[in-house]
Order: sequence, then structure tokens, then C-alpha cells
Amino acid sequence: LDADEFRRQGRLVVDFIADYYARIDGYPVRPAVAPGFLIRQLPEAAPARPEPDALAAALRDVRDLILPGVTHWQSPRHFAHFAATASNVGALGEALAAGLNVNPFTWAASPAATELEVVVTDWLGKALHLPESLLFSGGGGGTLLGTSCEAMLCTIVAARDRKLAEVGEERIGDLVVYCSDQTHFSFQKAARIAGIRRGNCREIPTSRESGFTLSPKALAAAVRADEAAGRVPLFLCATVGTTPTAAVDPLRELCAAVAGHDVWVHVDAAYAGAACVCPEFSHVVAGVEAAESFSTNPHKWLLANMDCCALWVRRPAALTAALGTDHDVILKDPAAAQAQAQQQQCSDGGVVDYKDWQVALSRRFRALKLWLVLRCHGVEGLRGLVRAHVRMAAAFEAMVRGDARFEVHVPRQFALVCFRLRAVAVAVAGEKRAGDYDGVAAGNELNRRLLEAVNATGRVYMSSAVVGGAYILRCAIGNSLTEERHVREAWSVVQEQATAILSAATA
Ligand code: PLP
Repeated sequence: LDADEFRRQGRLVVDFIADYYARIDGYPVRPAVAPGFLIRQLPEAAPARPEPDALAAALRDVRDLILPGVTHWQSPRHFAHFAATASNVGALGEALAAGLNVNPFTWAASPAATELEVVVTDWLGKALHLPESLLFSGGGGGTLLGTSCEAMLCTIVAARDRKLAEVGEERIGDLVVYCSDQTHFSFQKAARIAGIRRGNCREIPTSRESGFTLSPKALAAAVRADEAAGRVPLFLCATVGTTPTAAVDPLRELCAAVAGHDVWVHVDAAYAGAACVCPEFSHVVAGVEAAESFSTNPHKWLLANMDCCALWVRRPAALTAALGTDHDVILKDPAAAQAQAQQQQCSDGGVVDYKDWQVALSRRFRALKLWLVLRCHGVEGLRGLVRAHVRMAAAFEAMVRGDARFEVHVPRQFALVCFRLRAVAVAVAGEKRAGDYDGVAAGNELNRRLLEAVNATGRVYMSSAVVGGAYILRCAIGNSLTEERHVREAWSVVQEQATAILSAATA
């Protein structure tokens, strides 16, 4: 860690990234490489000794070998999945945290890092219009994890231990969790890790008619049926902004449906939570005050570079009871114990030792970049970002509606447009074929080919989902560099490829 050398090398890296951003629009969004392309080009073992000016040589390899195989998530023409919205201060905040390289697992292990996380999660919670009860200032509190999957796992484990303390450890096989068929698959993974039997995850079906939202009536019926069969309802994962279509589950009604059954309600707002910075979207979390926990990924749509998932809980004690450890050698260190004893409490609930809010002991100083983002952009800046993306998505939606060959499959939510070639366009193409036309399968196949053709151009990158049996294309707008002209170009690419595919199918 030589300061002068760090300064020199740091400039090389900053210049490299700045050049990358300046040129990013020129790269094909998705690389045309085959599996193994990089493995074949790199040596089989690490060098025994560094070559002269190894960092400069490595950066040349990043440019010549690695960048050609990268999917450019920061490209203004990346519309796949949900974006990983980046910013200068998001990236530099990561650099700052990496430079300080602290490990704030307890308050004593890095008091400022811990307290900044306390402050910044309260700041963000207020900016998102979350109820006071989820914030430290209201008796709850937040933490910064890496991913939504971790947030789900930590909260299921908290709910599980609380419930088992009441009904007895031997009932673990009877615990049941609830979600919809649109809930992110990481929920089932988290439930399995938490020891919930595979057969005890109720995936409640949704329909296009109800906008792919979870039905409170169906949930209540499922809970009643499980109770009648002697099982123990434990946990509901509701979603604000589902992955396939950004559907918003009705939180108030869902919480009411399980009220009186002691079910922990977690709200997964990984993507759409960000939209709540805008007062006009805060209605999507109406009723969240009855939930136990809420999480969102600022790395998706709030300019905080990867990774950053904010989790808030109403009763931190439930988390720390399940995930806390009090026999760590580190905490028995006399200096640390003394520091703990002398410190001012940083919240009404007492000292926060974030190791007790997560799975692992060690943790990253994520609060720094989120704090930089909030300071340097302000809540108004974040609102402007969300509104600009929503406006561009509305423009894309209007373009889809203006072409009779296409349908918007479900009304746009936030900045996600879900669309597909209409059955009638597919039927016209299908009729000219051998007469073995099967509407659904042929429609799906044609839309799948359309997406493949669109992405193969390298000019844009979109993704897909299958909802209610229909294959849809997803155009998710959320990158910092995206402008209206990119959105118009994206639509032109889709139209061109659709024309080519439909005319080939009818030839
Ligand atoms: N929940 C929703 C609604 C998502 O869209 C995603 C990912 O896109 C996840 C959860 C998983 O997030 P993570 O990768 O942070 O675990």
C-alpha cells in the first residue's frame, strides 16, 4: 500500500473507466462470444512473479480480452432484466470503501461505518416514504446487505425461530411459507436454506386478468387450509414490482388476509422500491406498516453501484435473536468490550452490531456509497432519474401500441414494458405454413425468435419472461446513460426484426 504508487495506479484505473464510459455506446450490448472464449486465452496458472508495470499490462488485457466478452450493463441500450443503475459517486463510493477496507461487523469494529449505516438507512427509508415503524427513529431499523435473496433468508430465519420458540422446535416440518407464481425464485431458495420443506412453499397462481398480482382471497384460503390440516403458516413474501411484469401485490389487503394468523409479511421491492422516492408512486407501498420487513435494491434503480440491498425490519430484536452471536472471541477482546461499554448508544434500541443482522460475520462498508449517492444527487435528483425512465418507458409503450402487429401484454408498470407480437400477426404468418399451426406454441416460438434476432443485432439487449403461458419481451428502462433516442432506436430494431421474421414465416 504505497501512497505514491496508489496515486499513479489509481489514475490509470480512473482513466480506463472514464474512457470506457465515453465509448460504451459503441460496443455491441451483448458480446458475440462462445463459452470458453476467455479461458482459452488466459494462462493456466498465475504468474510466479509480476511482470514490469503489471497493472498497465493487465489493463491492456481488460481492454483487449475481457471487454469484448462483457455484457455492457451500463450501455444506454441495455434494456434486459432490471438495470443495475450506476453513477459516478456510486462507483467512487465503492472505490472509497475499498480503499478504507474496514470490516464493520460490530460497532466497535468500525463505529463510524456502523453509525453511517444507521443514518443512511433511516435517510433512505424516509426518502422512500416508508413508515416510521421500520426506521431506527421509530423503533425498527435498516441494514445494507448484498442482495434481496439475503434479505429474504435473514427474515425467514427470524420468523422461523420466533415461531419455533412458540410452537416447539419439532414442528419445523409443519411450517408453511406463501408467495405467488410471480415471486422471484430466490424466495424458494431462501426458504429451502431456512429449512422449510419443499412441499410447504405455497406458490399461489395469478392470472393476466388480475395483472399477475397475488390474490388476498386465495392467500386467505391457503392459510385456512393449512391450519385446518394442522400445519403452521409462517411467512408471506409479497412483491412490489415482480420480476416478469413489475406487478404490485396489494399489500394492505394481503396483510389483512393473514392478520390474526401470526404470519411474518415480508415485502420484496427489489426493483420498484426505488420508485417510492416519487410521491406519485408511494401508493404502491400503502399498507406496508402492517408488514414486518421490507427490502429494496438501491443497486437496481437508485444509482448505488453493485451491490446494495437495503432491508428494514419493524422488530430488529427478532432478527438479532435468530442471527446474533454473543460468544465471539472478538467481542471478548477487552479493548472492544470497553469501547462498547463507554460508547453512546447510537439508537434508542441500543448498540447496533450488524453481524447480528445477517448471515456472515464480515461485511462491506456499503453505507459510504449510498451516503455519497444521497448527498450528491439528493432525493430530488433520484426523483428526476426515476421520472425520466418512466417517461421513456411510456414513450416506448406508446410506440408498441401504435403498431397493430404488437400488443402490450400487461399495462406498463414503472419503467418496464412487456410486449409481444399479437396472435393475429402470428396467425397470418402461421396460416401460410403447413396447416399444423398451434396458436400458443407458434406465437411463443415466433416471439422467442424475435427476441433472439433483436439481441443478435448487438444494437439493443432485451430479455423475456413467460407469464400465463405467454412468452413476452421485456424492455426495462433504467440506465443512467439512456436517452430518448436510444429508446426510439430500440423500437426501430424491434420493428425491423419483426418485419423480417414475419415475412420469412409467410414466404
Ligand atoms: N426480487 C425481485 C422482484 C427481483 O426482481 C430480483 C432480481 O431481479 C430479486 C428479488 C433477486 O435479487 P437479488 O439478486 O438481489 O437477490
